[in-house]
Amino acid sequence: MSVPLAGAHAVITGGGRGIGLAIARELASRGASLSLLGRDRSRLFAAVESLPGGTSCDAHECDVTDASAVNRAFAAIARSGRRVTILVNNAGAARSAKLGATDDALWHEMLAVNLTGTFLCTRAAIPAIIQARAGRIVNVASTAGLVGYPYVAAYCAAKHGVVGMTRALALELAGTRATVNAVCPGYTDTEIVGEAIANIVARTGKTADEARTALASRNPQKRLIAPAEVAHAVAWLCLPESQSITGQAIAVAGGEVAVG
Ligand code: NDP
Repeated sequence: MSVPLAGAHAVITGGGRGIGLAIARELASRGASLSLLGRDRSRLFAAVESLPGGTSCDAHECDVTDASAVNRAFAAIARSGRRVTILVNNAGAARSAKLGATDDALWHEMLAVNLTGTFLCTRAAIPAIIQARAGRIVNVASTAGLVGYPYVAAYCAAKHGVVGMTRALALELAGTRATVNAVCPGYTDTEIVGEAIANIVARTGKTADEARTALASRNPQKRLIAPAEVAHAVAWLCLPESQSITGQAIAVAGGEVAVG
């Protein structure tokens, strides 16, 4: 099997489950060594154990909203002799509420985990990414970073912010040969969608199957995206051949945002 990422070291935030774990598998299969970051230590270690044999992977308990914790995690990675060449900012959360019912805590939580976490990890990784020459930063945003949806104004604001930061940083780092891109999934079959289904069931009395079908119907292909599909797009952006792709926000959404 070809290992185009042999010698690369990727930090994946929220790598313990869902899309982040799928990205870990995909990058490992292409030869990268990994560091997984997340808050739940046992989930992280279970994720490391689940990776294919021979994968070089460590785990760091880290809340990406906490600047000190982020700096500690990146310092520990550097001390272990690993030089970060790829950063995947994937940690995130989605909570819904009408704007008028969005309390301060929900607003700050959405911005903190989805946007500030991306900023803090990127800032911590930048010296290594610049040094890597042709380093890669991939931000997992959302279709909610490209268009609006009702009842998720805080999440949409945060993900639009991620896309804006991606575009700005791509230009800032262009001279270093690092690329900075976002992938923007539509509804993807993970815990986040599980929680959304539970929410719809509780609020509307629909069955779980009906709620799942309603979410899948947003996608013109009438299905939920598989985490592996998002991971594949991330891995492609990390390949040497993707050097000219920077500052882009690429939807992985079955055509959901195919408007111009
Ligand atoms: P999951 O809920 O399955 O995973 C979220 C991951 O983020 C977990 O590993 C979690 O780990 C981590 N995380 C959450 N908060 C923090 C924090 N403060 N610090 C560190 N890690 C944190 O969701 P998905 O895999 O679906 O989501 C991954 C990304 O994809 C998110 O950014 C999400 O917004 C985005 N996305 C998802 C879509 C979907 O439909 N599933 C659609 C569009 C975008 P832990 O709890 O251990 O900290």
